[in-house]
Amino acid sequence: MTALRLYDTASRRKRDFVPQDPRRVTMYVCGPTVYAPAHVGNFRPEVVFDVLFRLLRHLYGDEAVLFSRNFTDVDDKINARAAAEGVEIDVITARYTNIYLEDAAALNVLPKTFEPTATGAMADIIAFIERLIALGHAYSEQGHVLFSVTAYEAYGDFSRRSLDDMLAGARVEVAPYKKDPGDFVLWKPARPGDPGWESPWGRGRPGWHIECSAMIEASLGETIDIHGGGIDLVFPHHENEIAQSACAHGGKPLANYWLHNGFLSMEAEKMSKSQGNVVTVHTMLAAGVRGEVIRYALLSGHYRAPLDWTDKLIEQSRKSLDRLYGVLRRLKDDAAADAPAPVSVLEALGDDLNTPKALAALFEIAGRANKAGASAERARAKGELMAAGQLLGLLRSEPDVWFGVDALSEAAAAEIEALLAQRQTARQERDFAAADAIRDRLTGMNVSVDDTPEGQIWRMMS
Ligand SMILES: [Zn+2]
Repeated sequence: MTALRLYDTASRRKRDFVPQDPRRVTMYVCGPTVYAPAHVGNFRPEVVFDVLFRLLRHLYGDEAVLFSRNFTDVDDKINARAAAEGVEIDVITARYTNIYLEDAAALNVLPKTFEPTATGAMADIIAFIERLIALGHAYSEQGHVLFSVTAYEAYGDFSRRSLDDMLAGARVEVAPYKKDPGDFVLWKPARPGDPGWESPWGRGRPGWHIECSAMIEASLGETIDIHGGGIDLVFPHHENEIAQSACAHGGKPLANYWLHNGFLSMEAEKMSKSQGNVVTVHTMLAAGVRGEVIRYALLSGHYRAPLDWTDKLIEQSRKSLDRLYGVLRRLKDDAAADAPAPVSVLEALGDDLNTPKALAALFEIAGRANKAGASAERARAKGELMAAGQLLGLLRSEPDVWFGVDALSEAAAAEIEALLAQRQTARQERDFAAADAIRDRLTGMNVSVDDTPEGQIWRMMS
């Protein structure tokens, strides 16, 4: 079996991945708050952890891997949006959950095993809080329930902060109902007119951190193999999840491996809605950017490194996919042979999800496929390329659909191919005037041509 090593934020090093039970591998990733279409930065963990999901399914079997990703559907921003539109919060959360799932599907993200929501897990959340109170790790005061950070010795170990650092650095609210300023909210009263749920502490709503701890326990169990999320969640969100879950479960760890993806930046600014530099996947798709191009772009850098999101990155990603699809188009009439997932791609992904290296390996395979001569060789090369694409969630379209030529008649396609052959001959004979004239004719037919290491690639212009 291919080795898998993952960089674990808790130990700050790469570790061999060993699941608790290879027949039941568990993974949780903190999901979006559904009050608006998600920006492309939200989809970095969605795509990165989808590659990990695909790799784990390859290593342990499709049925053995359980992946839970939540939707946060209780939040002030949701309340504000619902109030502005004069509707109930579930109208808002259903709308943006659907958009998120559509966007994720367009990015070739596999459906999750579980997709819990905070509202759907309310009974679990309340029961979790009651247990923490009973065990002396939380207390209720004036309709609030707070987690007592001083009652958990290891608090701060994960993010490697002392309580003093945390208080100095964070926006810690000093409030009369808190015993210690570092204590964080598990439950708070609902303001009049805001959505709320009945609880032993009155009508209210959960804090964000407890939702994840309760949903992880309910969907996957007490200790999971892998917990993922954006790097900005290390503190306080994951520190607090760890504290709550360890205290509720007699000190058992919440997760054995913690993975965090780096930021997406636009002009070196952290990408977030609050800074206004919002690019949503939804608007990009509507503007005609292919979901697979966005996926490729998100995988073009290593997941732990920051990624600069630029128009150039999107353009380069499209060109890279054109080259790969160009090879598949040339092999269109060959059946793909059953091929094992290529070792080069598995090794790259097994080394802490090194997707840039895996993409380079994909191009090597495409290069071999492009040169393949005999029909058995072509079939094998195509099979390898498809198997590699499956691991990365790429090359899932028909080449003709990808290039927008599926609607062309056979005669029209044959005419274009004949012109391309003439153009290639002209270029080989260094008759560039003739080559340019042919390109102009193709442009007149709404066909664009790119010259790539794999030869001429043409598509219908949109
Ligand atoms: Zn979470």
